[in-house]
Amino acid sequence: MQGVGFRPFVFRLADANGLSGWVRNTPAGVVLEAQGASRGVEAFLRDLRGSAPPLALISAVRTEEIPPAPEVQGFAILESGGGRTDIQIAPDCDVCPDCLRELFDPADRRFRYPFINCTNCGPRYTIITGIPYDRPYTTMAGFPLCPDCRAEYENPLDRRFHAQPVACPVCGPRLDLRDDRGRVVEGDPLPMAVPLLKEGRILAVKGIGGYHLAVDACNEEAVRELRRRKKRDEKPFAVMSPSLGEVAEYALFDPTEQRLLEGPERPIVLLRKRESGPVAGRVAPCNGYIGVMLPYAPLHHLLLRGNFTALVMTSGNLSDEPIVHRDEDAGAILSEIADFFLTHNRDIHVRTDDSVIRVFQGAPLFLRRSRGYVPRAVILPSPQNEVLAVGAELKGAICLTRGRRAFLSQHIGDLKNDAVLRSLEETVEHLERILDIRPKAVAHDLHPDYLSTVYAREIPGVPRIAVQHHHAHLASCMAEHGLEGEVLGVIFDGTGLGSDGTVWGGEFLVGGYTSFRRSGYFRPVLLPGGDAAVREPFRMALSHLHTAYGENLFDLPLPFLAGIPAGERKLFLAMLERGINSPLTSSCGRLFDTVAALVGLRGRVSYEGQAAIELEALAESAETGEIYPFALEVEEERRMVDFRPMIRALVEDVAAGAHGPFMARRFHNTVSAAVGAMCEEIRAESGTDRVVLSGGVFQNKLLSEGVFTLLTEKGFRVFTHRLVPPNDGGIALGQAIIAGRSMTDVSCGTDADNDY
Ligand code: ZN
Ligand code: ZN
Ligand code: FE
Repeated sequence: MQGVGFRPFVFRLADANGLSGWVRNTPAGVVLEAQGASRGVEAFLRDLRGSAPPLALISAVRTEEIPPAPEVQGFAILESGGGRTDIQIAPDCDVCPDCLRELFDPADRRFRYPFINCTNCGPRYTIITGIPYDRPYTTMAGFPLCPDCRAEYENPLDRRFHAQPVACPVCGPRLDLRDDRGRVVEGDPLPMAVPLLKEGRILAVKGIGGYHLAVDACNEEAVRELRRRKKRDEKPFAVMSPSLGEVAEYALFDPTEQRLLEGPERPIVLLRKRESGPVAGRVAPCNGYIGVMLPYAPLHHLLLRGNFTALVMTSGNLSDEPIVHRDEDAGAILSEIADFFLTHNRDIHVRTDDSVIRVFQGAPLFLRRSRGYVPRAVILPSPQNEVLAVGAELKGAICLTRGRRAFLSQHIGDLKNDAVLRSLEETVEHLERILDIRPKAVAHDLHPDYLSTVYAREIPGVPRIAVQHHHAHLASCMAEHGLEGEVLGVIFDGTGLGSDGTVWGGEFLVGGYTSFRRSGYFRPVLLPGGDAAVREPFRMALSHLHTAYGENLFDLPLPFLAGIPAGERKLFLAMLERGINSPLTSSCGRLFDTVAALVGLRGRVSYEGQAAIELEALAESAETGEIYPFALEVEEERRMVDFRPMIRALVEDVAAGAHGPFMARRFHNTVSAAVGAMCEEIRAESGTDRVVLSGGVFQNKLLSEGVFTLLTEKGFRVFTHRLVPPNDGGIALGQAIIAGRSMTDVSCGTDADNDY
C-alpha cells in the first residue's frame, strides 16, 4: 500500500539490527535484500511482521537465502522498480496516538495544530489527486514544506519520513471561522467556535471527506432548528463524542462495538440508546439506536475534548444531494442552514461520507461502507479482467477490479438526480486514475432507467453487461467469502427489476457467478401506484389485504383504515381490482411496510427503510418464539411463499387488540420460518446446502439472527455480508465479478495476486 511507511520501517529495522542491503516496491510487492550477523537477520525477520506500521497490511512474507554481497554498504531505499506497480492507496485514518499526544502537548511545535499527521495517520484517499502518491499529487501540493517539516520528511528515522500530507503551523493549512456570508471572523477560530455551539448555533465544519453540520446534541432546541432548516423530520442524526466515557452516558456498547468505535477507521456505529441520557430525543426519534462516532480529524479532537458530551455531526448536504466537500459549494448551499463555517484551506479532492456499521454476532455489518475503508480492496477468489461496475440506483457505489482485487468506492448516494450522477462520474474517474485501471467492460443493473444504467450506456468502446439485481446481490455475498460453484441465495430487499419484467425482492435464487435460476419467491402482490407505495406503506397493506380478503377489505376492523377517506377507498379498490398503475412485486421490504402499517406503526415514511427499522425496534422489545401461519405452494413449477394466512391472523390479532411488539416479533419469526421451510425444499431439489443472505432487508439484525440460527440448526452453511453492505451499496461488487466471469479472454493478474 502507498504511503503507509513500510519501506522506511524496513530501513529503520535494518539499521537497528546492523544490516546492509536495500528495499524497493515492485509490481510483485515489496522486495528487499538484507545481510549481516545471523542474529540480526533473525531479529529483523521476526520484527518485520511483528512490528509493521499500523496502516500496512502484510499478506505474506517469503524468504530465500542468497550469497553475501560484501560490496553493499549501509541500507538503501531504492526507487520503485519496473513495470506497472500494484497500486493500492490507503484509506483515511484517525489521528495516531503519537500525533494525538503531540496535539495536546504545549511543548510540541504542533500543539493544537488541526492538521497534524504522520506516516501512520491522517488523510489519504480524500486528498490524493493522482499517482504516484507523492505530495505534488495531493491537495497539499500548494503548501511548500518549511525547513523543519522538510527535515522530518527527509529523515528515514523520523515518523514523518515521506509522510506526504506533513504540515505544521508555519507551512501548512490553517483554520478559519466564517459567518454565513463567508466573511472571516477575526480571532482564534476554535475558541470562538465552542461558545457558538454551546449557544445552540449551527456550524458547518469542514472535515476529511466533506462538511458536517454540527450542533450541540444535548440542546433539544438546537437539534429542532437543525431539523427545520435541513428539512429533515425524522431520519436519525449521527453524533460524535470526544471519548467512550461520554458515549457511555447515553448509549450502551459491547467490546466489539468499542473496538470498532476506537479503530483507526472511525465509522459511525449504531449503539443501543440508554433509557435516559443527556442527548436530545430529537437526535434519533422513534429509534432504539443512535449512530455514534469518535473524533477522527485533529480538528474534531480539538473541538470536542473537554467541551461537549456529544455534537450532532450530520452530513452537510441538502436532502438527496451529495455531501458538500468544496468550499464554494459550502458557501452557496450550506449558508441556508449553517450560522457559521469552521473551515480551512486544505482541499478535499474527493467527497467521502462517514461509514455506518452495526454489530451482528460479534462482527461488523456494514450499512454504509465509505470513509476509513475506501479504497481498501476485497480479494476475489480468482484474477479477472479489469471491469467497472456502476451499481444500481439507491445507495450508489461503483466497483473497479484489477487482478484479484475489487475496489468498491465510497458511498455516492441515491442516484435520483444529476448532482448524485455527477458525483458517480467523478468517483469513476478518480478511482480509475489513482488505481491505474482501464476497464475492459462495464456492468450495470438490468433496469434500463436507472441513472447508473444510462451512464453505463454512454461509455464508449467497451462491452456492456446487464446484471439482474438480485443475482448481483447473491454474487456480492459469494465474492466476499470467496465461494465458487452454486449456492442458494436468500435475497430480500425493497425493489429490483426481475428477469420477467416484474419487481422482485423476496427471492430464493440458486446459482453462481455465471448463471442463476429463480427457485422460489414470495407470492407477488400489486404495488398500488408504483413508487407511491414505497413512500406510503398503507398502500401495500391495502394490497396484501386485498389478496387475503378481496373487495371487502375496507370492512375490516383495522384502525389504520379509518384514515382513508371514502373517495380514496374507491380509487384504491379500482386500482387493486384492475391492476391500474400497479406492477406486481414479490418484495420482502414491502411486506415489512405492510406489517408496519397493519400494526398501526406508520402509514407513511419520510425516508427509505423507515417502516422496517421501526418494526424491528418494536419487535426487539418482545420475547416470543411463536409464528404466524404461512403456506408454501408450487404453481406451474413455481415455488412460492404465500403469506395470506399470516395477513389474516395478523388482522385478527390487531382486531383483538394484541400487543404491537408481540405482533412485530411474531412477524419476524414467521419470515425466518418461511425461509427455513423454503430452503429445505430447495436443498432437497438442488442439493446445495450453502446459503448466502443478501439484500437490504438483512440490515435487520433481528431477522438476520433469526434466519441464521434457524438455517444453521437445519444443517445449512450460512454466509452473511461482512466486508460490504448487504444493501445496494454492496451490489457493484457482485456486478463486477459476474461481468469478470462472463468474459472468456482473461488477460490479467500479476504475481502479487498469488500471494493470498
Ligand atoms: Zn500520526
Ligand atoms: Zn512546516
Ligand atoms: Fe437491492
